[in-house]
Amino acid sequence: MMPITDDHMHIDLKGLGITAAEQFQRAGGTHIFLVSKTAQSFGIEVTSPDDFKSVFEQTIRIVEMVNEQTEVTAFPILGIHPVELTRLAKRFELDKAKQVIYRGLEIAIDFVKEGHAIAIKTGRPHYEVSDAEWYASNEIMSYGMKLASEVGCAVQLHTESTTPEGLTEIAKMASNAGLTPDKIVKHYSPPMISAYQSTGIFPSILASEDALNVALSQGDRFMMETDYIDDFDRPGVVLGPKTVPRRTKQFIKKGIDEDVFWAIHKDHPEKVYGVMIDI
Ligand SMILES: [Zn+2]
Repeated sequence: MMPITDDHMHIDLKGLGITAAEQFQRAGGTHIFLVSKTAQSFGIEVTSPDDFKSVFEQTIRIVEMVNEQTEVTAFPILGIHPVELTRLAKRFELDKAKQVIYRGLEIAIDFVKEGHAIAIKTGRPHYEVSDAEWYASNEIMSYGMKLASEVGCAVQLHTESTTPEGLTEIAKMASNAGLTPDKIVKHYSPPMISAYQSTGIFPSILASEDALNVALSQGDRFMMETDYIDDFDRPGVVLGPKTVPRRTKQFIKKGIDEDVFWAIHKDHPEKVYGVMIDI
């Protein structure tokens, strides 16, 4: 038996819930990095930073349920999706909206400090926004990196589509914030393994067959994810919970060395997040 890790998955108690983790387990999966969903998906309209606290507490509770009720080990990653700024900026002045998110990230870091979460998530929009909002989003991303550098945790990023220039810029932001780029995980990465390697940022690639073919032709310095969103209203927007284990087994059958997948599913996440991936 080998460890099989999904680097970015969501579980929603209004969706499949713990059954998604059970499906992952039955397919051969062992570890999940479970990322908090947006406040809206919990039915929460954010008016103060404490609303994010509630989102984080509910996320941690879901992680506990997975760990108690299945054989899968789940680790919580708490964060604030860039869309939260867009939503808050409709309610408040942009600067006030930014301050609410800063405080939300501080709350996420407090959970990491207390050992209730292992990393945070931040980022900047993948959609068109005003220059002012883009600038504020970059400030938020830098602030998240700075907070993470103070406690030594990793940061998952949700950003615009990857380009080599964008990666270089993000790596520089990380260095300026005191965080080594190999503590930055770019979620929803295309299989540009070489480009990532040269900047130090760690790619978490979508576990599609095509992406894996390209990624593996460039090396094994990446992690795998589904971004399974567990939302009945949006079926099929991302890969299902069984995808990472199924794809891993498929590629081993095709002749890819098991060592490659030990690196992807155990060595890299252990190093990046500072957790133990044991089976
Ligand atoms: Zn996601």
